[in-house]
Amino acid sequence: MALVTAPAPPRVYRVGLRTRFRGLTSRDGVLVRGDAGWGEFSPFWDYDVAESRAWWRAAREAAEEGWPAPVRDAVPVNVTVPAVDGVTARGIVERSAGCRTAKVKVAEPGQTVDDEVERLEAVRDALGPGGRVRVDANGAWDVDTAVARLAALDRAAGGLEYVEQPCRTVAELAEVRRRTVVPVAADESIRRAEDPLEVVRAAAADVVVLKVQPLGGVRACLRLAEQVGLPVVVSSALETSVGLAAGVALAAALPDLHHACGLATAQLLTDDVVAEPLLPVDGAIAVRRPEPDDALLAAHAADDDLTTRWLARLDAVRA
Ligand SMILES: [Mg+2]
Repeated sequence: MALVTAPAPPRVYRVGLRTRFRGLTSRDGVLVRGDAGWGEFSPFWDYDVAESRAWWRAAREAAEEGWPAPVRDAVPVNVTVPAVDGVTARGIVERSAGCRTAKVKVAEPGQTVDDEVERLEAVRDALGPGGRVRVDANGAWDVDTAVARLAALDRAAGGLEYVEQPCRTVAELAEVRRRTVVPVAADESIRRAEDPLEVVRAAAADVVVLKVQPLGGVRACLRLAEQVGLPVVVSSALETSVGLAAGVALAAALPDLHHACGLATAQLLTDDVVAEPLLPVDGAIAVRRPEPDDALLAAHAADDDLTTRWLARLDAVRA
């Protein structure tokens, strides 16, 4: 198909991560520009071409169509507390730009229930009684471990908002949900599932976590949210502020938003491609769409080898 004007070339970026994530020390991806603005395509490298196509649909939507109108002008966000000791956890919450919800990593290999209890007590103490505390096990527990562990963690936290993905499968989530008072949120069971609605049919979750890139865009997530009919938490895939803006747009367009979103992740990067990253103030991110900055794009341009790999990946998902 002939194009009337030549499209802007894709820009491949690489920025550092402040702490290791998924074994990574840096984050990379492609930024593409269309008539509606910039979009980000940044599936992690363990996603194959078939799975990466949803990520590409999200980037195309951002670049070519833009997003539905917002119904709110700010999105409350959570601070993320990795598997650190209590003193460090307290410091992270205290320096979190007013976030009133903390998401605490649990089920870390090599750690004990005592490590988790210490971390949760510190987080609750730093947040005060009005804050919310959620935990994320990333599917690591079996059902019995989840049920026993959640009783202890719920006590330590003075009440948990929910547990995210306590076990791997939908059937396990449903059983945990029947056997504990802690609400269950589905994350991996939504975004890497053949059928995200299985969670609903199995009564396996009280909350669903939606991520724009793996689920194919803001409109696809809005449709899914409507089908699921459960409260939604929007989270990032650790994008630059270009990709984060799509998550913010989704959270801003949802008819109801009862929980803080996992979109305060620009602070996990050592730098960004926009001059004013999407960072929280008073616990919320203002709804806006920042443009990449030319000097920052140049400063964080990937080397030739990485650029070649990303452009090949882009060709593959477009094919
Ligand atoms: Mg999660």
